[in-house]
This record gives sequence, C-alpha cells and structure tokens, in this order.
Amino acid sequence: MKRRQTIASPIEISGIGLHTGKRIRVRLLPAPANTGVVFVRTDAGGVEIPATLEHVGPSFYATVIQSSGVEVSTIEHLMAALYSLLVDDVRVEIDGPEVPILDGSSGPFVERLREAGLRSLDAERRYMTLIRPVTVTHDDKRIAAYPCREYRATYAIDFDHPQLGYQELSVSLWREGEFEAKLAPARTFTFESEVEALRKRGLAQGGSLDNAVVLGEEGILNPGLRFEDECVRHKILDLCGDLSLLGRPLRAHVVAYKAGHDLHSRLARKIHQSTDAWYLAPWSEEAPNLGAAAQA
Ligand SMILES: [Zn+2]
Repeated sequence: MKRRQTIASPIEISGIGLHTGKRIRVRLLPAPANTGVVFVRTDAGGVEIPATLEHVGPSFYATVIQSSGVEVSTIEHLMAALYSLLVDDVRVEIDGPEVPILDGSSGPFVERLREAGLRSLDAERRYMTLIRPVTVTHDDKRIAAYPCREYRATYAIDFDHPQLGYQELSVSLWREGEFEAKLAPARTFTFESEVEALRKRGLAQGGSLDNAVVLGEEGILNPGLRFEDECVRHKILDLCGDLSLLGRPLRAHVVAYKAGHDLHSRLARKIHQSTDAWYLAPWSEEAPNLGAAAQA
C-alpha cells in the first residue's frame, strides 16, 4: 500500500512576492495524516486556509485561496511541487499575502523538499480515480481529463506571437524524477506588452527578469531559456498546481489546448462536482475499474 507522506523536517524559504513586491517568509512544517495542505497566515491572527477548491478565490493571474477575509495568492508553484512529489500533509506558515516567486519556477521548492526529505504517515493514500471523461471548453480553448492508469498530462499552447508559436508536450507526472527534470525548472512567462498593463493595475510589482521569462516582439529579454519549450512546460507545472486543489492525487490523463489557470480550475471544479466520474481507491497497478462508481 502507498502511505500518505509529510516532510521529514521543517523548511524555511523567503523571497519577494511577484505581485506585491513584498519580502515574505514561508515555513513548511510536518503535519499529521489526513490534514492536507493548510496555509496559516501568521501575520493575520493565524487564520488557517486549507488548499482546497472550497477556498479558491477569483483571479486570472495567480491561484488564490481565502478564508475569513484573509488570502494567500500565487500558491501554484509551491502546490505543484507538493502535488507532484506526493506530499499529502503539510502545514505552510506564511507571514504575508503571497508565496514568494523565487525564480518563477518550482525548482527551488523541489530542491528544499528533497533536502528536508519525506516521511511516510500511518495512513493509506487514496487516489481520485477517473472512470469517465470530464471536459471543459471555452471558445477555442479546451481541457479534458480521461481515465488512465497513471497521472499524465498532454498540453499544447499556440500563441500568435513571433517568439512563441505552437508547443506540445506529454509527461508522465509520477514517473520517478519526471517532474523534477522536465517541469520544475520551467519558469513563468509573460509578454513585454502585458507587463506595463499589469503594473498599472498594481500587479507584478516584484516581477523582473530574475523571476519570469519575458517575451518581447524582437526576442526573449532574458539571457536564455532553460528549455526550448520552457513555456509549455511551465503550463503543465501550473496545471499540477491548480489540480492539487482537488485535495487528492488524480489518476487521469489530462489533455489541454490553449488552456490557463481559469480553465484548469474549471476542470478541477467539474471533476470535484461530477461524483459519478471518479471513485477513491488505494493505488493499484491495474487500470481503473470503469464500473466501480456505478456499483458504489
Ligand atoms: Zn505559473
């Protein structure tokens, strides 16, 4: 049986927030089994915000969770690291409204999680096992999840921009080392033309070439890319962060075309609500039992 996991020792990380530009400190602490990922705003009376769909707030630029009028934003790169490394239970103390952006990827979080190590808990992990497709479309954008024996994502982006055309990638997310090698180092990206607009709205105050890939009309403003297709890799990373709010590992093949945070979270919500589309089960090497939900 596969057991739930927490971290073996505390982790402390600090850095600036992408949107607020403020310096923020995060402490990850081991947590008891079945508590999930819970953020705690130590600067706001210790309000606890579980990282689940019930607590997601509206936003198009980052993933935001909220409770009792207090929020934490830009949780997706940390959540992607926790979800992909199968860290089920952890307490995340934070002294500000936003998770530090660091280098704009999940790389630093993965590195620190590896240093701290993971510890098995005395509880079995149950997987959200999909047994029929769930689909969300919006104009020419689409995303769907299909029954699959593993957790896989196939993602395509297609921008009408001289520096970024069509990119496509398929990744088996729980294959040992796959997330760390292929996705975690991929940085968030933005267009030079959008940066000014974001700044005027009070966003991206902490943004710089140290924490985002910026695409200008003439080329990439950064010294270089980490992967030729870094942008689609970051999209899959974001997808993992957004799906993590299901609160359980998903056994499905997610296929996305021109999607983003909005469509990712709509898919997560639709899966969550479609209780006839999945069942909870311990890990098994076999393919999902497509009749199981009907029998339940
Ligand atoms: Zn991102």
